[in-house]
Amino acid sequence: MRFNADLHIHGRFSAATSSDMYFPNLAKGAEQKGVQMVATGDCLHPEWLKEIRAMMEVDEGTFQQGGTNFILTTEVEAEKRVHHLLLFPSISSVEDFIERLGPLSARLEADGRPRLPLGGEELAQMALDTGAMIGPAHAFTPWTGMYAHFESLKGCYGELASKIPYLELGLSANSEYGDRIPELANLTFLTNSDAHSPQPVRVGREFNTIEAKDITFKELTMAIKRQKGRKFVRNIGLPPEEGKYNRSACSRCFAQYELDRALALRWKCVCGGSIKKGVRERAMELGGEVRHPSHRPEYFYMIPLGEIIAKAVGHSSPFTGKVNSIWQSLVDESGTEVEVLMKTPIERLTKTAGDAVANAILAFREGKITVLPGGGGKYGTVLLPGQEPAAVQKAPKGQKNLFDY
Ligand SMILES: [Zn+2]
Ligand SMILES: [Zn+2]
Repeated sequence: MRFNADLHIHGRFSAATSSDMYFPNLAKGAEQKGVQMVATGDCLHPEWLKEIRAMMEVDEGTFQQGGTNFILTTEVEAEKRVHHLLLFPSISSVEDFIERLGPLSARLEADGRPRLPLGGEELAQMALDTGAMIGPAHAFTPWTGMYAHFESLKGCYGELASKIPYLELGLSANSEYGDRIPELANLTFLTNSDAHSPQPVRVGREFNTIEAKDITFKELTMAIKRQKGRKFVRNIGLPPEEGKYNRSACSRCFAQYELDRALALRWKCVCGGSIKKGVRERAMELGGEVRHPSHRPEYFYMIPLGEIIAKAVGHSSPFTGKVNSIWQSLVDESGTEVEVLMKTPIERLTKTAGDAVANAILAFREGKITVLPGGGGKYGTVLLPGQEPAAVQKAPKGQKNLFDY
C-alpha cells in the first residue's frame, strides 16, 4: 500500500502557532488534504504529551484520531540554534528522553520546540540511547539550518554522523539541492510542512509518499531505512522558489542579491539591513554536480489548492470566505485536496468551481505556473499564466497578505 506522511508540524504550545492546533482539527485538515500519517510534533511538551496519550494507540508509537495516524515527533533547537527533527518509537522512549534531559534543566513547558543546551553529537547520542531517530530539520535555511553553521554532517554530529538516517530538505529546497552534496547520498530526504496551523493550505503543503504494509511507526522506520521493500516513493513539495529563504536577500527590505554582489557588499544591504544567504546559494556552495543515487524518489511539485484558487479569483490571501467556499466544494466533490490537484477531470472541476479556477488547476498540472523566488524571510510569489507580479502583490486594505504568514 501507499500512504502520505507529513512528519513535521507544531502544536499550539510552540511559538507563533495557531490556537486551533488541537489533534481533532489537525486530523480533519490532514484528511481533507489527503495525508494519512501526521507528526504529533512537540512530544516533549508536558501538556501536548497529555493530549497525545488521550488518543487511541493502534500500534506501538502510532496514535489514531479520526482517520489520521499520528507518530511521536519533536523538533528541538540545540547548540548554535540548529534545529533537529526527532522521531520516537514509543511513549516510553519519549519518557526516557525527557528523564535524561532532567539534569540539564531544559524548560520543556516553555515552548513546544524546546531549546536544549546540547551539541549535535550529544543530542544524537541521547536519541540513539533512547531508540529515537534524528536528523537535521530544514537543513539549508539560514539561522537554524544545520548547513548554516556546519560544512558537513560530521561537523554537526561528529562520530555519529553515519547514524543519521534522514535529512529534511525544508520548503526552500528540493532533492536537486540535496543531491549536490555527496555525503547525503545514503540519507532519505524528508519533505514536511512544518505547519503551524491545521488548515490544509499549511498541513501537508509538503509531504512524503511511502510504500509499506501499514500506516504505523514501525513501517515508517523501515521505509526511512529502505528495508524489506519499504521505501519513500515520492517527495512532494512546494517549488523551492516559493520558500522564503530560496534566494540571498535582505531580511529587512527583501532586496535580492546575486552571490558575488552580496560578497562584495559583505552581506550588508544598501538599506543597512543584513543579507541572508539563500538556500540555493548555500547548496551550490557546499556541493558540485547533481547526482541522484538510485534510491532517490521522484520530487513532485505541489502548490496548495487554496493558493491556486486565490490567484484564480484575484484574492491575495487563501484565507478569505470566497476562496474557502470554492475550496470546500471542490474537496467535497473529489474527497481530498490531493485528488483535486492531481486527478479530478477538468470538466468536473469546471462544473464545480467555474472556468477560472479549473484553468488555474490545469495550469498547475501542466507546469505553467511560475514562481517569483522568495528570500530573506519573504515567501515567493505564485503567478498564473499571464499574471503580472504587481497585480497580485497588492493586498486589499486591512487584510494580511498571503506572504505574511
Ligand atoms: Zn525549525
Ligand atoms: Zn535591505
